[in-house]
Amino acid sequence: MVTEIERATALAAVRAASGLCGAAQGLLAAGDTLTKGDDSPVTVADFAAQAVVCATLTEHLGAIELVGEEDSSDLADQASLRDGVVELVRAQRGGDVTAGAVVDWISVGHADGSGDRYWTLDPIDGTKGFLRGDQYAIALALIERGEVVLGVLGCPNLPNPDGSRGAIFLATEGACDVFYAAADAPVRALVAAPPTLAEARVCESVESGHSNHDHSARITELLGITAEPYRIDSQCKYGAVARGDASIYLRLPTRADYREKIWDHAAGKFVVEQAGGRVTDVTGAPLDFSHGRLLERNRGVVATDGRFHDEVVAAVQQVLAQS
Ligand code: AMP
Ligand code: MG
Repeated sequence: MVTEIERATALAAVRAASGLCGAAQGLLAAGDTLTKGDDSPVTVADFAAQAVVCATLTEHLGAIELVGEEDSSDLADQASLRDGVVELVRAQRGGDVTAGAVVDWISVGHADGSGDRYWTLDPIDGTKGFLRGDQYAIALALIERGEVVLGVLGCPNLPNPDGSRGAIFLATEGACDVFYAAADAPVRALVAAPPTLAEARVCESVESGHSNHDHSARITELLGITAEPYRIDSQCKYGAVARGDASIYLRLPTRADYREKIWDHAAGKFVVEQAGGRVTDVTGAPLDFSHGRLLERNRGVVATDGRFHDEVVAAVQQVLAQS
């Protein structure tokens, strides 16, 4: 069960982090980025966004369990990076924030996902897109006994149908709302199925190292889809499917040993489901959030408007079996 205060606080936390990231993108300097042990990039804004989300949640909800992507120990011997993080958090929350408080907030994200009820956060999903000046998302979800019960996706750069940019998706059981800066009230996100599968629009990762582009080209050919793929970074792809910008999201394994991270999918998959869509892995199995930090039992992701899900999974299976 999700309380109204949890819902409102999750939205406020993602809104605050989205503002911070929007202001930071484009202002990053050379020393503001670090390459982590797994070779992925992380910036001052990733740490600062995790601090701001954790600060907001703990302020309003008290002690929480949270599995965050970022680890405060990565800042331990990085004084200038840490100063950059503190500066961003101060700009967002006011001047009296200490470096110690910022590190403590980031450390709230140390949980391992073995508890019964916990939050999971990707403070900047799609860091490569963020650095390129493209798409990224702030992704926050609440998981209860292995089931996602709340998902919030902040997509500060997402191009909207009316030409504006930026949207926040908030999903709880039964509905997904989308908040736009220019509108007072949210609108409902609803998936949209094209009249025929051949008219579907597929979205996928920009990075061919994250999702196999050759396989997706073969799958779309098999399905008779002729439109070029919509390539956008991050869980913005789930947002795009949830409000009908696209009707299929394919994430096709590039390595047999890669396991998806829970914070890369929990919020997004719930957003699509509550907007009326379906989300499984490439075998058609539900995403299983009951194995700690990783989706140990799943491979890749297929998210759709729901109507053509089985046909899409069958085509994915056919292409993967041939390769
Ligand atoms: P996207 O923007 O959709 O390309 O997804 C970005 C996410 O891809 C990052 O948050 C990483 O956790 C994740 N990632 C990194 N390596 C891989 C990989 N080999 N396969 C799938 N996802 C990956
Ligand atoms: Mg990520």
